[in-house]
Amino acid sequence: MAAMTKALPRRLVGLASLRAVSTSSMDALPKRVKIVEVGPRDGLQNEKNIVSTPLKIKLIDMLSEAGLSVIEATSFVSPKWVPQMADHAEVLKGIQKFPGITYPVLTPNLKGFEAAVAAGAKEVAIFGAASELFTKKNINCSMEESFQRFDAILKAAQSANISVRGYVSCVLGCPYEGKISPAKVAEEVPPAALAVHCHDTYGQALANTLMALQMGVSVVDSSVAGLGGCPYAQGASGNLATEDLVYMLEGLGIHTGVNLQKLLEAGNFICQALNRKTSSKVAQATCKL
Ligand code: MG
Repeated sequence: MAAMTKALPRRLVGLASLRAVSTSSMDALPKRVKIVEVGPRDGLQNEKNIVSTPLKIKLIDMLSEAGLSVIEATSFVSPKWVPQMADHAEVLKGIQKFPGITYPVLTPNLKGFEAAVAAGAKEVAIFGAASELFTKKNINCSMEESFQRFDAILKAAQSANISVRGYVSCVLGCPYEGKISPAKVAEEVPPAALAVHCHDTYGQALANTLMALQMGVSVVDSSVAGLGGCPYAQGASGNLATEDLVYMLEGLGIHTGVNLQKLLEAGNFICQALNRKTSSKVAQATCKL
């Protein structure tokens, strides 16, 4: 779950707060959906073998060609924690910047933010969680400490006129703490300001995304070829595959601006390069081989 906001509230926000909204009518679906492609970051950061910088750049360029309007390009975390993202500056500088497309990057702290801006970032993302244990394992601090880090980034971003996206993991449940109380997740942000970010561990990502759309969310995170996983959640599979999301949205008559054929080509390219099978059902179904 992620919220687009310039000032992350002190209390966390999340989809759990939206359950009271009626979900019975298909009329409630949005006319257009903005897809946030997270494959080059959320997907590739889980790859054990280091993916070369030119390959990452080619993937992002292909995703731009496919018409995705937001592509999360990389993460300015310490290479000590995530070696796969050590080439963040080279990737951000090397990609073609298509007009109308934004390329946000993750920034865990002020140092990462400053490096990202120096490399040309125009939008950054901060990431916390609605779970103390997940926060500790993911970013090695308490929730309260994470807010202090966010404050520092938000202040710097405001003065540099940089947009900030806020991720809140585990709004509906945590692999360590289990159920997360809705009371822990504030109800301060309207659905239109929220995005949904599902992994497909239990095969429910597309269904959960559709439910979120019916509740007023119109920004959806997904990953080409369903790349990804979570190093801290055993058995966690990749993100919702972008190909499958686009196929469903097209079937519902919802505009995405994405060329599915070009997207499939990008998915095929990265799967061949990584020597892995795609997790996208649509890619599997349309494979000519
Ligand atoms: Mg993810």
